[in-house]
Amino acid sequence: HLEVLGERNSYSKTDPDATFMRMKEDAMKNGQTKPGYNLQTGTENQFIIDFRLFPNPTDTLTLIPFFHSFQHRYNRLPGIGVADSGYGSEENYRFMQENGIEAFVKYNYFHKEQRPRYTPNPFHAESLHYNAGEDYYVCTMGQHMNRIGTRRDKTASGYITESARYKAQRCEGCPLRGSCFKAQGNRIIEVNHRLNQYKRQARERLLSEEGIRHRGRRCIEPEAVFGQMKYNMAYRRFRHVGEDKVTMDFAFFAIAFNIKKMCARLRKAGKEFITLAKSIFIGLFITRYNGNIATCYQMNEKKAA
Ligand code: SF4
Repeated sequence: HLEVLGERNSYSKTDPDATFMRMKEDAMKNGQTKPGYNLQTGTENQFIIDFRLFPNPTDTLTLIPFFHSFQHRYNRLPGIGVADSGYGSEENYRFMQENGIEAFVKYNYFHKEQRPRYTPNPFHAESLHYNAGEDYYVCTMGQHMNRIGTRRDKTASGYITESARYKAQRCEGCPLRGSCFKAQGNRIIEVNHRLNQYKRQARERLLSEEGIRHRGRRCIEPEAVFGQMKYNMAYRRFRHVGEDKVTMDFAFFAIAFNIKKMCARLRKAGKEFITLAKSIFIGLFITRYNGNIATCYQMNEKKAA
């Protein structure tokens, strides 16, 4: 039993490779879990360029293995990565930076920050003044918060995050004490400087002209592919059992999907090229496609097994 379970919290007795997870389709509206796979796809111009199945329901840990899968398939990493806020972790930002992938990946508060009426909480650590030269924060009342140490945490993938800890000198009797924090003693804040730096870079990119264009395309790229798959083609469930068979199941679907998409594109461009293109396209799949793909889009969907 434990051997089959591996690092997962659950598995299905019908399909031991499938893990119980919450689905987007929740007919009972009670957050019921069902056995399934976390399907990640990369798309470009609405063509499926890569996919991989994961047993973990959260997206954060799937990005790096997905990039490795992409590299294995095309012998290179994509130059640009566009993904939603579910992928915006320190580990993922770092991987992309170290591997030369231009990251247009949102972080958890990005949308909130962009609202016209958004006013930052003046007591929040990110709103406080930071003196980088002498490494201290200045709290809302003007007190110095000095560095008292570093906290290290390990993520589920084994990545170590470091947060610097700063402590106020005397909070007793402060008129802002009630609004500032609720714990006892003097206020302590923890700041992950590296993650904040990645977030600043991500914000700059996302708000640039190119970033706005990529964000605009993200909703018509993978979302359109999943829309066509699930609602136009009614492909909501895998028809096989076991990860290898489910992989085969989706691989055939992806080939058919791409051929259909290419025919539709060519029909628009001119009918005489369709026959020629079909044979070239099938040939490309057989001989392993190594085209010049610059953009990789990730998104996730959980599909019932
Ligand atoms: S409660 Fe402490 S940390 Fe908060 S504003 Fe007052 S002195 Fe500064």
